[in-house]
Amino acid sequence: MAYRGRFAPSPTGDLHFGSLVTAVASYLDARRAKGEWVVRIEDIDHPRTVPGSAGRILQCLESYGMHWDGAVMYQSQRDEAYAAALEQLGDLVYGCSCTRSELSHQEAQHEYYPGTCRHGLAKGRLARSQRVYVPDQDIHWQDRRLGPQRENLASSVGDFILRRADAVWAYQLAVVVDDGAQRITDIVRGQDLLPSTARQIYLQHLLHLPHPRYCHVPLVLDLQGQKLSKQTKARPIPPTGSPQVLAQALRFLGEPVPTELDAIAPLWQWAISRRFT
Ligand code: GLU
Repeated sequence: MAYRGRFAPSPTGDLHFGSLVTAVASYLDARRAKGEWVVRIEDIDHPRTVPGSAGRILQCLESYGMHWDGAVMYQSQRDEAYAAALEQLGDLVYGCSCTRSELSHQEAQHEYYPGTCRHGLAKGRLARSQRVYVPDQDIHWQDRRLGPQRENLASSVGDFILRRADAVWAYQLAVVVDDGAQRITDIVRGQDLLPSTARQIYLQHLLHLPHPRYCHVPLVLDLQGQKLSKQTKARPIPPTGSPQVLAQALRFLGEPVPTELDAIAPLWQWAISRRFT
């Protein structure tokens, strides 16, 4: 199958060096494979979306020389597709009435959802969120960088949420439905999402979607060893494409960028053709 990669930022702030590294990793992998590269704005979590940041992220990608194929997909416009997927899952999904404080109490004891509502709701309780049943069995998969992986969802997370109590679609469902709709063959993203992968593979299986290949790239950490993120107020990168910053991102990914390359287009030309020379 022809390669199709993607970059799927959440528009909760401007691009910082950590998110640039992820974008560069997936763009480089796609272009080296002579594949397509699409962008999806994961603006499903409306309360966290920062107005204007999607547009600034897109401009920033272009100014760093990363041009996407086709139209940008916006998760905020995909309600029907997520509802259809939930419907397709039918009896594999159940309503859960646990409140936030009940859940934090349960998780303090088990670290995973212990299946409190799995066999039906207690009298008088109403469903708040929707969860999918998970089997007590290992899911195996291969990460292109990290090698063989194994996870048993029953003991790692338990039955997980597909639709939250605030009626927001869960990231796990949206990402799987959209990767399927966009026919993504290769997911290259930050290692912080490694623990989500087994859940996504399981949902792909239930929804009869193909399994993409996965490659999780190292995270950029700050001096305290924390992942650079919008939550920890990581500084945005210069919005008007800086060749030095692009070179730094490529070097972070292990590319031995020659110092004489000091413009965006030649940097990409060098990086994309490197494997084939
Ligand atoms: N939207 C997610 C984020 O910005 C990335 C999702 C993914 O790559 O699967 O962290």
